[in-house]
Amino acid sequence: MSDRILGLHHITAIAANARRNQDFYTRVLGQRLVKKTVNFDDPGTYHFYFGNETGAPGTILTFFPWEGMGTGRTGSGMATAIGYSVPKDSLEFWKDRFTKTGTRHDAISQRFGEQYLSFQDPDGLNIDLVVSKIPDSRAAWTTPDTGAADAIKGFHSVTLTLRSIKPTATILTDIFGYKLLEQEGNRYRYITDAIENAAIVDLVEAPSESFGYNAAGTNHHVAFRVKNDEILMEFREKIVKKGLHITPKIDRDYFFSLYFREPGGVLFELATDNPGFTRDETLNELGTHLKLPRQYEADRARIEAVLPKLD
Ligand code: ZN
Repeated sequence: MSDRILGLHHITAIAANARRNQDFYTRVLGQRLVKKTVNFDDPGTYHFYFGNETGAPGTILTFFPWEGMGTGRTGSGMATAIGYSVPKDSLEFWKDRFTKTGTRHDAISQRFGEQYLSFQDPDGLNIDLVVSKIPDSRAAWTTPDTGAADAIKGFHSVTLTLRSIKPTATILTDIFGYKLLEQEGNRYRYITDAIENAAIVDLVEAPSESFGYNAAGTNHHVAFRVKNDEILMEFREKIVKKGLHITPKIDRDYFFSLYFREPGGVLFELATDNPGFTRDETLNELGTHLKLPRQYEADRARIEAVLPKLD
């Protein structure tokens, strides 16, 4: 089983204000900031990782907060919603919390026999809180406001919107080992049995949907999880054989990565479990320091001076 794709690793999205982004995910949603670093390609911008206590794969939502960036447009060829798994009977708590914090949200609804609550983060990013049919025994990160009875456990799913689902579905089934589980209207639910949670990808077929535009409030890429570098490179071979362009292995400090654009237009990444977020901070201190990749350490003073101030 361990040589397979193990569901979602992380999802990366774009925000337009670092302080507001950190405030919303840590205070309103009660996620742990597990790593505060910079965009490796643009060190004047933060890269935040929010997740559970350890930042376990399958719980990590990451952001590039580009100050003052304009709002993007969700559309086809993009991940258009993130699904977080929450405990049974917690949706009323969240609905109330969103009302109190001025967070845009919809009414509690149901699909595939699961109750969910859709809301938007301060940049307009679409997120669903889902009470999963599949048992979710993952321990959530808790805060004084978001206790174990309500706290987010990690990802439930990601939704990709596509003009045609076929080419993307083929990648999921033929390379990633997912299977079609259910269909409701134009939404097709794919799942892998290689892992218990964060195992779902919903493909929504919308033939006339305009292509999305990547900027604040949209998802940049979706990363799938593999156990280690060796398996990462086995998948690289499989993707090359499909005739798709894929990057060489990239060291992201907390995992090793490959990127490729799947035929439906969504940027996919494959990311390893190793070495993880405790590579350069202890478990207790995760997210409390600004961590810079080696190549920028000499420029720390200058980088700290340009990064926006946080609380
Ligand atoms: Zn990534």
